[in-house]
Amino acid sequence: MSKTIPVKKNDYLEVEFEDLTHDGAGVAKIDGYPIFVQGGLPGEHAKIKVTKVNKGYGFGRLIEILEQSPFRVECPAEDAHKYGGCQLQHISYKGQLKYKENMVKQVLTRIGKLEDVVVHPIIGMDNPWHYRNKAQVPVGEKDGKLIAGFFKPRSHEIVDTDESLLHLHEINEAIKVVKEIASELGIQPYQEESHKGVLRHIMARYGRQTGELMVVMVTRTNELPQRAKLVEKIIERLPKVKSIVHNSNSKKTNVIMGDQTEVLWGSEVIYDYIGDIKFAISARSFYQVNPEQTKVLYDKALEYAELTGKESVIDAYCGIGTISLFLAQKAKKVFGVEIVPEAIEDAKRNAQLNGIINTEFAVGEAETVIPAWYKEGNSADVLVVDPPRKGCDEALLQTIIDMKPKKVVYVSCNPATLARDLRILEEGGFKTLEVQPVDMFPQTTHVETVVLLSRVEK
Ligand code: SAH
Repeated sequence: MSKTIPVKKNDYLEVEFEDLTHDGAGVAKIDGYPIFVQGGLPGEHAKIKVTKVNKGYGFGRLIEILEQSPFRVECPAEDAHKYGGCQLQHISYKGQLKYKENMVKQVLTRIGKLEDVVVHPIIGMDNPWHYRNKAQVPVGEKDGKLIAGFFKPRSHEIVDTDESLLHLHEINEAIKVVKEIASELGIQPYQEESHKGVLRHIMARYGRQTGELMVVMVTRTNELPQRAKLVEKIIERLPKVKSIVHNSNSKKTNVIMGDQTEVLWGSEVIYDYIGDIKFAISARSFYQVNPEQTKVLYDKALEYAELTGKESVIDAYCGIGTISLFLAQKAKKVFGVEIVPEAIEDAKRNAQLNGIINTEFAVGEAETVIPAWYKEGNSADVLVVDPPRKGCDEALLQTIIDMKPKKVVYVSCNPATLARDLRILEEGGFKTLEVQPVDMFPQTTHVETVVLLSRVEK
């Protein structure tokens, strides 16, 4: 059945926004035809210009807001929703939390068909700004000057930025200072188009609990010019620095780091804590970018697991073992599985660092390793999963159903795949008991959720 599209490109329309998409655009409908407009909020009346018309949906640009949502706030940063991934900063924090909580509820009902499940109020941050402990900013050139900041969306044009509202102040300071020093020393910025120049990215990481700073400079060339002077000036101007690292990446690629990493000065790692657990973080390690909320999320996972010290636990998709180490404090034994070998190295090192001896870590696909364990007669009392956005593999879900652990704790960064997987587990004899959304990434559309499922005895 073909239906005519009710709008044309370049039309000016008055619309009312009904909804927000998962990436924070307002949705208006004209005779059922959806138009996505960045910056529009549900309940608002606005004038828009249609910019693109596809078969099933279109895009528009916000021209004027005629009636405002009570949740709208002034954007703290100019052109805010365009840069640096702050898609929601035109919404008050209270409004953002409500949006995320509703999104979880809606998706669980619509996709998960979970009508009567308890969704607790989302846990937000007291101060939802300047929380990120890591930044990696592209370096480029404009009017003969070295600049660094964000890429404009869907382009490779760099917007020179000194102050990100999401990064910790120590991170903003580090990026700014390294940028200035590189400029003073005449280090050539990388030119993406011609694949010439030297400095490609500046990265900074900060351990909030320890006050330790790491600076990484990524160059196209194997050599970092003026390295002695560079190091000297960084130490002088960034007193918190504990580690200065050079990484070289000669490839034409969007991947930031190359294979060659060299410590120029100080330690190979910096340290940080989540709760009582200490983590060693190298230039290449994965580490949570908002440790404060990570602790909230993993404390909840631990609470849901209700461990007494007798349980054996599987932590699937364990990364550097953050959850595994949390659980190990209360379990008999924790088995972690993760696909990235370096992450497993970090997990083992972190277990050692904390004197934790009841963990074991394996490299491999969760959907291969765990079924193989089960076939060999191994089982678990509690299974924790924390998969990437695409959710759990079906083979893993089937093994969970066959294995019949008493409890499953599902930590998710994508409500849609969470809902899909919960439905499968429900069909397989589990009941979803509690759902706790946590706001790990204020000002962005991301939402994390931790869910407790229990085995229904039959
Ligand atoms: N709980 C972890 C983070 C999990 S993020 C922590 O606290 O650090 C999801 C992880 O799943 C990533 O580390 C990713 O590398 C890993 N992963 C992705 N696909 C996988 C698979 N098929 N099997 C096992 N691990 C996988």
